[in-house]
Amino acid sequence: MRKRFLTLVLALALCLGLGAPMAAHAATGGKLIALTFDDGPGPHTERLLDGLRARGVRATFFMVGQQVSRYSEVVSRVYREGHQVANHSYSHANLVNLSPGEVQNQILSTSRLLDQACGAGTRYLVRAPYGSTNDQVRAAVGAPLVYWAVDPQDWKYRNAATVRDRVVQGAADGAIILLHDSHPTSVDGALQAIDILQRQGYEFVTVGELFRRRGVPMENGVSYVRCRPTGTDSGAVAAPVLSSRLADGRLEVTIRAQPGAGIWYTVDGSDITQTSTAYRGPFLVSPPCTVRAVAAYDLNGDRSATVTQPYTLRVTQAPLVTLADGTLTLQGKTAGAGIFYTLDGSWPSEASTPYTGPVPVSPGTVVSACEGGTGYYTSPVSRAWLTGSGNVFSDVFPSSWYAGAVDQAVSAGLMNGTGDTCFSPEEMTGRAQFVTALYRASGAQVTQPERDACPFSDLEQGAYYTDAVCWASALSLVEGDDTGCFRPDDPITRQDMATILARYLASCSRALPQDGSPSFRDSASIAPWALSPVKEVTACGLMQGDEEGNFLPMDRASRAQTAAVMVRLESVLAQLEDAPGEGTDSPDSPEGESVPPGSSPEQGQPRTLS
Ligand code: ZN
Repeated sequence: MRKRFLTLVLALALCLGLGAPMAAHAATGGKLIALTFDDGPGPHTERLLDGLRARGVRATFFMVGQQVSRYSEVVSRVYREGHQVANHSYSHANLVNLSPGEVQNQILSTSRLLDQACGAGTRYLVRAPYGSTNDQVRAAVGAPLVYWAVDPQDWKYRNAATVRDRVVQGAADGAIILLHDSHPTSVDGALQAIDILQRQGYEFVTVGELFRRRGVPMENGVSYVRCRPTGTDSGAVAAPVLSSRLADGRLEVTIRAQPGAGIWYTVDGSDITQTSTAYRGPFLVSPPCTVRAVAAYDLNGDRSATVTQPYTLRVTQAPLVTLADGTLTLQGKTAGAGIFYTLDGSWPSEASTPYTGPVPVSPGTVVSACEGGTGYYTSPVSRAWLTGSGNVFSDVFPSSWYAGAVDQAVSAGLMNGTGDTCFSPEEMTGRAQFVTALYRASGAQVTQPERDACPFSDLEQGAYYTDAVCWASALSLVEGDDTGCFRPDDPITRQDMATILARYLASCSRALPQDGSPSFRDSASIAPWALSPVKEVTACGLMQGDEEGNFLPMDRASRAQTAAVMVRLESVLAQLEDAPGEGTDSPDSPEGESVPPGSSPEQGQPRTLS
């Protein structure tokens, strides 16, 4: 329960952005202002876009449908460069003179044209031509309507200096300013005004970004002319961060963005639009390719800079390591790549020894190898340890606390690997696995009567553990659950393990002192029937608690822990004196059967305890 609670707290922390990969933003920001350009796109729009890009400024473009079909490439550029594309009707009609159906047609036909640049599903703010509107128009457009707080009358003055001065004079925090990119004088005046206002500390934003950052939702059919400071500024969108790693001959790409922002991407180098792939989690690519990604609250005008990441190197796979008869053989899996290795446990790179043919190695050697070379990613590293006793492990290495125990347990035949060179030390020990290891350590042989008396109904016919479980049952080391099942594949808990070990030691006529057992901080969570066995097996040193003095009775025992216990068992048996006749087994102590399957606590981090 405690771990579930921690998980919940962590999830909440992530929701609040506390564990976010990128910092969120200041609670209050500087002065924000939104320039809007009407009646384009046209012959002067690209010059305006150049000027805005040079100043790092984003604006909103209310476009006329007739112009959109003539300058479709310019619409794409407006959108791609992070400005907001918006709808200014198809033919610049005065909408109050039209029927609701005609108003909708003016808006929808323009939206369809804009969709060709922005992608279907994009939402467009609307500005009615001449600012002319009424309830019928507001109801028919089906979008937020945007007007202006400042009208410098650039269409009338046609003089850059006048436009500049009137924009600067009218500027205010949160204002929406009306301009027209159809006039070259407006383009020049606007760029000059930007230079002055930037020095005054203004940040230029799109209309959508202005309202989003100040936490003001924009509603369909409502008219907006400004967004005054609200004490909140959730900030501009930071560019997403891409990372990659090799995965089975391909490249797995992960993209992160700030909390609340969506991520869109393409893998063919194409521009990102509303119809690009929405990021849901890491994805695989095959180089050479180019990934583009954008973080956005709205791809139309409230987006980050586009990140373009080419992946040109060829993907490598880790080489195959074979250690047999004192000889190392390495086999490459990537055509054209070289193989490099070390024999001293150090991490290999393309500066390590190049592999040219079989290499003699002595016991105790750790081999580490990778593939790579010019034009290739360096592959994941393959490692293998040739132990002093001749075992080969690819997932156990001398630096781990359990290395010696695993090597001994495998050499003595008490435990087997989980694959050719795998031991899977962190995997949980199954109940049947544990009893089998104990059976092998005991050196006992099962007789036919023992087999016949085995009471469990869930043992697989001819399974590797059958004799071991029958032996353990005959010695009363294990009991079934209420339904007569042994549950061979369930993970064994540490208190179950302690109980079986204590009974086994008693069956070997060993006196089990309880004195000298450490008092565990979590002794209250040990089942009553396991208290005495836990004391016995810890007093003789067969099992131990963790560094903080806990026994962790409900933790599952890893295969590494089981190996350590099995190796210790022999010396413990030798040390303990023969018992004076009676065993210490108490008949009314069920061996863990009070634990329903699946109720074990969350699997913990690997621990150096056993
Ligand atoms: Zn207009």
